[in-house]
Amino acid sequence: MIPKYRIRCAGGGERVEDFTLQSCPYGHDSLLRTEYCSRKLHLAPYTGIYRYLAWLPVNTPLLPSGGPVTFTNDELSRELGLLRLSVSFSGYFPERGADLTTGSFKELEASPTMQRLREMGGKIPVIASAGNTGRAFAEFSARCRQPVVIVIPEKAVPRLWTTEPAQDIFLVAVKGDYADAIAVSNILAAVPGCVPEGGAKNVARRDGMGTVMLDAVVTTGRIPDHYFQAVGSGTGAIAAWEAAMRLIRDGSYGTILPRLHLAQNEPFTPLVSAWVAKRREIIPAEDMPDAAESIGKVMSDVLTNRNPPYSIRGGLFDALQETRGHMYSVPNAEGADAEKLIRETVGIDPDPAAAIATAALVQAIEKDIIGHDDHILLNLTGGGYERIREDFTLHMVSPAVVIRPDEPREFLVTKLRGWIARHG
Ligand SMILES: *Cc1c(COP(=O)(O)O)cnc(C)c1O
Repeated sequence: MIPKYRIRCAGGGERVEDFTLQSCPYGHDSLLRTEYCSRKLHLAPYTGIYRYLAWLPVNTPLLPSGGPVTFTNDELSRELGLLRLSVSFSGYFPERGADLTTGSFKELEASPTMQRLREMGGKIPVIASAGNTGRAFAEFSARCRQPVVIVIPEKAVPRLWTTEPAQDIFLVAVKGDYADAIAVSNILAAVPGCVPEGGAKNVARRDGMGTVMLDAVVTTGRIPDHYFQAVGSGTGAIAAWEAAMRLIRDGSYGTILPRLHLAQNEPFTPLVSAWVAKRREIIPAEDMPDAAESIGKVMSDVLTNRNPPYSIRGGLFDALQETRGHMYSVPNAEGADAEKLIRETVGIDPDPAAAIATAALVQAIEKDIIGHDDHILLNLTGGGYERIREDFTLHMVSPAVVIRPDEPREFLVTKLRGWIARHG
């Protein structure tokens, strides 16, 4: 069989034969990137993200999976004074056909990641998450009976629910913060049978999120001039850039990359700080002083990644540079106004991150960074939680183990090995 895609190092351009790798085997500090044999985006006869199966690194769809939806909203456009605004919504909003039942675009990443692992031999992904990512993987585990290991800070346990009962989740709660959860997840990912999920380095994750751009462009018929999103790691933004490059290569939708307009939530804004200084490196003392305290003050904590793929080749710095991008710093008060605006116009409760993205768009209009008749895509990355609670019974996932960061981990590893023997 001819493989549907190749993998290349985004930095050096070499072909990488081993599809299980997540970093460049030739030593480049670079993301790996998929290159699809099909230059044209042929649509597949599925709903949700697998409509774009041609440009996803899997052979078979994982069904059912939801997807992003693209629409226009006259009221919102009028309020903002924009003539060509499209909204992409990744959440739950049945009237609009939006069917991501955990409420965020992390499902776009979880589904192809789970499917790709299944096709590549069935290893169990280990995911460290502070919330939305863990819930998205938990949901697919419940839906497909595929095992996952999820490590989260103990205070995030209430956010770990699924809409179907889950039986194949090994959930570890760490009495600490996200960084402590990552440290524990690294140990568990080395247990035989497990693999690190990979975050931004995972091509399935990026190409899954790239479907936001694909859906918008297929719906509107052209590549937008501007793309607005709130970023934590920036993985979604890198994915939008990569999808746009593929669409240009396709030839049917335009020749100019959309400018990336990316937002963070004050006072935690390391990406804004580094980008405004035109630096490829994030310097913690300058770009995120008093990180723990700042993280405690934002309205959207999914935007508080301390270790984003910014400097790495093919990462966020390159994406901003290549697209002549812009970064926005959004205070909570502007986020709150934007949340109200989305509720009143679009008619859904946005994830706080989606409100931050909308507030960045408001800033761009006020500062004349964009034109009123430009083609704009606003990515509302999550929302609809109120409707989810009405329409579904939520099943809480309970931890198999609760652990302190300083505790010895032998017991945890032994327990995981026993669990894999039963589930793997
Ligand atoms: C994770 C998340 C983001 C940020 O995405 P990145 O890819 O980490 O930049 C934005 N919005 C929502 C709802 C999220 O869950």
